[in-house]
Amino acid sequence: MTPRTISILGATGSIGASTLDLIRREGGMWREGGMWRVVALTANGNAEELARLAREFRPDIAVLGDETRLPELREALSGAGVACAGGAGALIEAASRPVDLTIAGIVGCAGLAPTMAAIEQGGTVGLANKEALVSAGEVMTAAVARNGATLLPVDSEHNAIFQCLAGNDPADVSMITLTASGGPFREWGAQQLASATPAQAVKHPNWDMGAKISVDSATMMNKGLELIEAYHLFAVGLDRLRIIIHPQSIVHSMVEYRDGSTLAQLGPSDMRVPIASVLAWPQRMDTPCTPLDLAAIGQLTFEAPDEQRFPATRLCRQAAEAGGAAAAVLNAANEVAVAAFLDGQIAFTRIAAHGEDVISAFAPPAPASLDDVLAIDREARARARLLTQAA
Ligand code: NDP
Repeated sequence: MTPRTISILGATGSIGASTLDLIRREGGMWREGGMWRVVALTANGNAEELARLAREFRPDIAVLGDETRLPELREALSGAGVACAGGAGALIEAASRPVDLTIAGIVGCAGLAPTMAAIEQGGTVGLANKEALVSAGEVMTAAVARNGATLLPVDSEHNAIFQCLAGNDPADVSMITLTASGGPFREWGAQQLASATPAQAVKHPNWDMGAKISVDSATMMNKGLELIEAYHLFAVGLDRLRIIIHPQSIVHSMVEYRDGSTLAQLGPSDMRVPIASVLAWPQRMDTPCTPLDLAAIGQLTFEAPDEQRFPATRLCRQAAEAGGAAAAVLNAANEVAVAAFLDGQIAFTRIAAHGEDVISAFAPPAPASLDDVLAIDREARARARLLTQAA
C-alpha cells in the first residue's frame, strides 16, 4: 500500500480543522501506520496553531501567507524536521507540490492563486474556497480542463448536488435546487437588519464556520456566491439553478430530473460529512457524526427566499448573467464590505448595497488569465474601500 498524499491550504481554519480531524481519525499519518502523508499545511498569520498542527501531522512544509510571522513559526517548529516558509510566493510553491488531494480551504480571493497552482499540478482539488471559483470562473474551469485536474466540491450544497448527479446525464436535469438555512436573521424585519451587530451575524443557527462565511450566510451573499459556484461546477445553465430556504439545514440540495424524480442528499449540519465524501471519493469512509434521526427532527420545511430584505442573491444572479468580470468585482466588494462590517465601520444592510454600488460603477473586460482576475480583484477592492471609508 502506498500513502495518499494531501496538502491543506487554510489548515488553521474551520474547514482545515474538520479535514485534519477526519485524517486523525482515519489512523493518522503514514509513518504511524495511517493512510495519509501530509505534504503541506498553510495558514495566514496564525503561527502558533500552524506550528501545533505541523508538530502533530509532520508535513514536509508549513507555510504562512503573512511573512512577518515566519520567525515565530520557525521558532515554534525548531527541531521538528518541518520546513517553514512565508509569503504569497511560498503559498503558491507549497500548493504546486504534487499531491493526490489538495483541500482548498483558504477564505476569500486570497486563496485563488494557491488553488490555481494546485489545479496546475493536475491532481484532485477539494474546493471549499468558493470565492476563488466565483472570481476566476472560466479561467479556473479552463485550467482544470487543460491540466486534467479534478475539482471535487467541499461546499455542502455542491457536494450534495455532485452526489445526486452521480451516474446521471446533466442533459436530463430539469432543476438544481440549492438549499439555504436563511441564516440568523431569516425572520428579522428591515429595521432590525439595519442594526444587526457582528456578534449576532456570526452566530449561525446550524453551522459552526469562520467569520466571513457566517456573515455571508446572514446576508444570503453566501447562497448567491454558491449559485455562481454551481453555475461553474455543473453544466446545466443558470435557468436550471434556483435557491430555496430550508431552515433545518438537513436537505443539503436537490436535483430534479426530467422524469419527475428529485434526488436529495440529507445529512447532519457538520462539514465533516461532505469533507469525508471528498477524502474518500469515489469510496466512503466513517465519520464521527451523529446519524440523522428524522423522527426526532420531525419537520423539514421550505420557503421562498425574500430578495427585498436579502438582495444579495439577486445581485449574484445578475453578476452570473452578466458574465465576464462581474462576479469577481462583486466578490471583491463583498469581501471588503464584510471586513468593514466586522470592524464596526458599516451597517449590516450596507454590505450588499456596497456590492451593488461597486458592480454598477466598475465593469472591466472579461479576464483571460489569473493575472487579469487578480488585477480586477485589486481594483474592485480599492473602489469598495473608498465606499466603506466614506460611510
Ligand atoms: P476560516 O476563517 O475559519 O479559515 C480561513 C483559513 O484561511 C485559515 O487557515 C486562515 O489562516 C487562512 N487565510 C485567511 N486569509 C488568508 C490569506 N490572505 N492568505 C493565506 N491564508 C489565509 O474560514 P472557513 O474555514 O470557514 O472557510 C474557508 C473557505 O471554505 C471559505 O471560502 C468558505 O466560504 C468555505 N466554506 C466554509 C465552510 C465552513 O463550514 N467553514 C462551509 C463551506 C464552504 P489564519 O488562521 O492564519 O488566519
